[in-house]
Amino acid sequence: MARINDHYLKLQASYLFSDIAARVDAFAKANPDTPILRMGIGDVTEPLPAACREAFHDAIDEMGTHNGFHGYGPEQGYPFLREAIASGDFQARGCDIHAGEIFVSDGSKCDSGNIQEIFSSKARVAIPDPVYPVYVDTNVMAGRSGFNVNGRYEGLVYLEATAENGYIPSPPKEAVDLVYLCFPNNPTGACATREQLSEWVEWARRHEAVLLYDAAYEAFIRDGSIPHSIYEIEGARECAIEFRSFSKKAGFTGVRCAYTVIPEDLVALDGTGDRVSVHKLWNRRHSTKFNGVAYPVQRAAAAVFSEEGKAEVRRLIDFYMDNADLILGTMRELGFACAGGTNAPYVWIRAGQSSWDLFDQLLDSTGIVCTPGAGFGTCGEGHIRLSAFNSRENVEEAMRRLRDAGLTA
Ligand code: PLP
Repeated sequence: MARINDHYLKLQASYLFSDIAARVDAFAKANPDTPILRMGIGDVTEPLPAACREAFHDAIDEMGTHNGFHGYGPEQGYPFLREAIASGDFQARGCDIHAGEIFVSDGSKCDSGNIQEIFSSKARVAIPDPVYPVYVDTNVMAGRSGFNVNGRYEGLVYLEATAENGYIPSPPKEAVDLVYLCFPNNPTGACATREQLSEWVEWARRHEAVLLYDAAYEAFIRDGSIPHSIYEIEGARECAIEFRSFSKKAGFTGVRCAYTVIPEDLVALDGTGDRVSVHKLWNRRHSTKFNGVAYPVQRAAAAVFSEEGKAEVRRLIDFYMDNADLILGTMRELGFACAGGTNAPYVWIRAGQSSWDLFDQLLDSTGIVCTPGAGFGTCGEGHIRLSAFNSRENVEEAMRRLRDAGLTA
């Protein structure tokens, strides 16, 4: 009989969302007259920018003509989008990245999950705690960990992000080959400064490690001194891969378009100790296992870089960040210590009790649903995450209920 990949059996079932759903259901049955306010959601709520919709429509009309029909496209993405990204997202910020180094895909979830495939199954991996779970689970699936013991997988190195270090982990003491970093961070909303990123790049070059830098929330950075890209740091071309997505930036969670940057300078060792181009390997992987993003979707994504698109994206981000301001202001007023919310759409709140206790207290006293931090890792315990992805009406109503309930830290 066929054998399965036993590493999949090490994966811990994620009860986070089913546990939340069960508690919300019970509350709804007991309190049918209290409308529930979901303030923990990681999906966007505002519609697609008009510039993207128009480009989408036009591309579909083009597809209905003999001259404008597009079949299979280049797996790496159409040059019009790769060039718009290289100049709009990188060269405009002084980063030395060119169009050929950009791989367009259908999402950063897939890219940040799949990237580990091109590295050795023996690679030592460091991941932040709390964490976007994709980085952990895909390495467990690939056999780079032992079993899960008390919420942590043996063999993985955990980079603790706590209130003490401002939720920005420092490089590990032990040797590792791959390090996942995510800034602005999900779930903490923390952002690394130029100095902190420089420390990481310097460390990675010294240890010949590769940084896997997830910048899915880059568009939410408002502080002019915080780098948007790891390539704003000198030397990053030799040690870093960056993941970007149109999902949160331009409301593409349901449209699906993202990209990964792999500089041509990045090398890693093969089994005989020779240096191999990581870019070439990913190109091989991408063109073998991926068949390109739909032409109209790439046209819609390219519209993000038009003047109209840029103005609309700015308004979209401002809208969510005004929500974040309201949440952050209210939670601080109520006495809670908070991180995030200034350069990220997530506010990370110290619960002063267990994550689930504050979750229950919020739900029972106000009908507000948050995300318990414990669901993101051991260091998430004692925190909750509130999200700015919501209507203004819901955020205002949620903040009003919190004040009226007399909730304090
Ligand atoms: N990276 C992080 C840190 C995320 O929080 C998310 C989505 O929530 C993603 C990547 C996934 O992005 P995409 O929609 O491009 O797959």
